[in-house]
Amino acid sequence: MQTSWTELCRTVENCHLCPLSAGRKHTVIGEGDPHSPLMLVGEGPGEQEDLTGRPFVGAAGQLLDKMLISIGLERSCVYICNVVKCRPPQNRVPQPEEISQCMNYLRQQFVLVRPKVILCLGSTPSKALIDPQMRITRQRGQWILKRGVWFLPTYHPAALIYDASKKRESWEDLKALKAKLTELNLYTGRQVETDGIR
Ligand code: SF4
Repeated sequence: MQTSWTELCRTVENCHLCPLSAGRKHTVIGEGDPHSPLMLVGEGPGEQEDLTGRPFVGAAGQLLDKMLISIGLERSCVYICNVVKCRPPQNRVPQPEEISQCMNYLRQQFVLVRPKVILCLGSTPSKALIDPQMRITRQRGQWILKRGVWFLPTYHPAALIYDASKKRESWEDLKALKAKLTELNLYTGRQVETDGIR
């Protein structure tokens, strides 16, 4: 039987399946349009996300908002979440066991949202959802169709903050994302005149 959003949120808020629960202030499940055809999946909550209980609200989140706007999409029109729902200490990469324990919640989110296109933000979601051997620097921008859902691996916005030279490739991925949504008749954004990520 399908879990409801209420049940899922309650279960995650009370979850202690992995050690990440010990250090959290809030669980961060996700937000946005729960019926959006486009889901964005990041790695895990950072400090600001842990404090607020919302995904992508820190510096990387602000850049993500700009990235979406650059292809005419509002944040409220997509669904945004992470692979793990609790903040790893010092923002380290989640351990495989932590990802494994938390994956069932992400699967339930897939069932509830039923996205047609999933943008994997960075190495962790790309490995968890597409290919454990994924090399993000080599394979970003390559579409993968799995069980009727299109996956696109790209850089995490935090990577663009550390290395602005990655913005050019990220912009190519965003244009490819818009083209795929348009091809599938799923693009609902505004037509905007931009030539990159600011
Ligand atoms: S990260 Fe996921 S599995 Fe681990 S305690 Fe938090 S909600 Fe539970």
